[in-house]
Amino acid sequence: MAAAPIHATFNGPIIMIGFGSIGRGTLPLMLRHMKLDRKKFFVIDPDHSNRAVVDKEGLQFIHKAITKENYAKVLKPLLTQGPGQALIVNLSVDVSSVDIMKLSMATGSLYIDTVIEPWPGFYYNTKKDPAARSNYIMREELMKLKAKSGGASTAVSCCGANPGMVSWFVKQALLDIARDTGKKVTEPKTREGWGKLMKSLGVKGIHIAERDTQRSKNPKPRDVFVNTWSVEGFISEGLQPAELGWGTHEKKLPATGRRHTSGSKAAIYLMTPGAGTKVRSWVPGVGAQHGFLVTHNEAISIADYFTVKAGSKVAFRPTCHYAYHPSNDAVLSFHEMAGRQWQRLADTHILTEDEIVDGGDELGVLLYGHKKNAYWYGSNLQIEEARKLAPYQNATGLQVTSSVLAGIIWAIENPKAGIVETDEMDFRRCLEVQRPYLGKVSGTYTDWTPLKDRGQLFPEVLDKKDPWQFTNVLV
Ligand code: NAD
Repeated sequence: MAAAPIHATFNGPIIMIGFGSIGRGTLPLMLRHMKLDRKKFFVIDPDHSNRAVVDKEGLQFIHKAITKENYAKVLKPLLTQGPGQALIVNLSVDVSSVDIMKLSMATGSLYIDTVIEPWPGFYYNTKKDPAARSNYIMREELMKLKAKSGGASTAVSCCGANPGMVSWFVKQALLDIARDTGKKVTEPKTREGWGKLMKSLGVKGIHIAERDTQRSKNPKPRDVFVNTWSVEGFISEGLQPAELGWGTHEKKLPATGRRHTSGSKAAIYLMTPGAGTKVRSWVPGVGAQHGFLVTHNEAISIADYFTVKAGSKVAFRPTCHYAYHPSNDAVLSFHEMAGRQWQRLADTHILTEDEIVDGGDELGVLLYGHKKNAYWYGSNLQIEEARKLAPYQNATGLQVTSSVLAGIIWAIENPKAGIVETDEMDFRRCLEVQRPYLGKVSGTYTDWTPLKDRGQLFPEVLDKKDPWQFTNVLV
């Protein structure tokens, strides 16, 4: 086998906050593809059950929780010890992305995370109304900071698989659709150019369409929440309101839909939790399926990025949302939680690569409404292949950790970009770094629409003139 390419040399301190399923999986990829100083690589986590991995690699483990009160005191000396720029890789839960980004920019350090994470107390605050608990609100706060971040050290926001990699897939998918519909285009270089390309191709919207078929050899016990990645992360986003980028082709707000009153207004939210909101969608390996409309940053950032304006008016915007069929065990877990009005299960468990018997993760973008109806472009990574490619992770994990690796390399190559969303990054360079870890990457056209096989056993109110209305998609 050819030696793994070294993508970057980084001599400064590296601080990884959080060493859960994604931290553990990211570490071997960083060690494999970067030349770095192990004595200056610090892993911080209040849970030390996996510290043996850190010790074995000759890195430093700090057994601590990063909190609102201690973050500056703990992190600043690590970030400023030199030599040169430091790098923060925030893969934790309950540690504010915005505050750590501010610190990283103040110390000239690079920063990356995979979600906009708040300090504890945001997700489950019953005094906040659903709008105040939305990702839209968190992203708006980040956008205010971004507007002032020009020229600052690079801070990459939300660079996992989704949010993250899927934004790079959207651009590749647009170029594929242009090629396949005979439209001659030069690759856009600006946000406006990409928006205009999407508009000119007639794309109405995008599903982030995912199916996780990984199965454990141990049947899920009752009262245990089982997932293939962070249980904490999935429960918190599953209990936020469902949210979606709201496109200009939509005729009617769903009955549960609500608009925001300030900011970009690129997204709406529903008065139902994502884990209790289903949508109709499609992935190649399975075909038609119901997915959860769990809120995700990319639903908002993609809708915002591809917006075309005429003066101050929005002339075009795609609808964009997640349509996620997680592993069967995770579906059962949320079903159990829903039955007890979203109260927690007694225990949690993340499926490891050793206990998964088969299955994989099919994660892509379904661009719909254009001349060829709908096009899914994405990654299909099976567990057997994931096991061979890298240690300490299942197929879902590897799609995420390879995105983090790509984002880190991009940040090192572009160290003064300020706060960036993945939609703004060089999608070709990022996918080049990541692709060896994505299994089969391919595009497929489908004639499926949300009207397929509808209304046969029971009458339904459907918009037959435009199959791609969200009212047809929502279950
Ligand atoms: P995990 O639950 O396995 O691990 C989280 C880790 O953070 C745990 O080890 C926990 O002890 C640690 N932690 C908790 N509080 C902390 C604190 N105060 N300071 C430092 N560490 C703390 O989660 P995971 O699967 O590794 O996911 C990590 C993050 O990545 C989550 O926020 C998750 O939502 C996100 N994620 C993003 C994507 C994506 O595609 N964008 C995919 C998967 C996960």
